[in-house]
Amino acid sequence: MGTITLAPPPTMRELMDEPAFAAYMATPPNTRVDYGRGRVREHPGLTGSAPWQLVVRTDTGAIRTARFDTYTAGYDRFRSMLDRDDVADVTLMARRMFFAPPGHWVTRKFREASTGRVVLRDIWVDYFSWPGFDWCTRCRRPSRFMELPPNHYVFRLNPVMRTDEDPFRCITCGIRFAAIPPNPDLWMIVETES
Ligand SMILES: [Zn+2]
Repeated sequence: MGTITLAPPPTMRELMDEPAFAAYMATPPNTRVDYGRGRVREHPGLTGSAPWQLVVRTDTGAIRTARFDTYTAGYDRFRSMLDRDDVADVTLMARRMFFAPPGHWVTRKFREASTGRVVLRDIWVDYFSWPGFDWCTRCRRPSRFMELPPNHYVFRLNPVMRTDEDPFRCITCGIRFAAIPPNPDLWMIVETES
């Protein structure tokens, strides 16, 4: 009997070698959201109560985490972790929001099913992916979704998450694949080009 060995996801250092991904990471998400009729407010999912969490895997396999009130504070620590020899990998994850992969707005024609009219609509088109891996909208990086062993650290960090229903989870943050909104309209986007 052979053993199936799954290729590990790309490390953050490999990802940061890709200019499109590095630009994405370097761009703080816009926390101001237009709720219409001139009401522009701070988004509650990105402000207050430490919306950002750093997950560091050391060279011995230990997991260290830290939470941050702002993206910039988390990103500064993230950068310093990348430079350390005793750090194997690092993730800066959004604790309460889902993020689209790096991409850009494209205007496309759609035919409305109800009226048959052709309308123009802006859609977000990804331009960054890693073959063989799915984008985790919470880790904001390509990851693998699989059934995790009971001793995986995500269950220690978030003990209430255990469930046998739809058990495929991100190996870095533990979010269930089934819990990610399938509709990209519900994801936050980060614009790295104007
Ligand atoms: Zn994840």
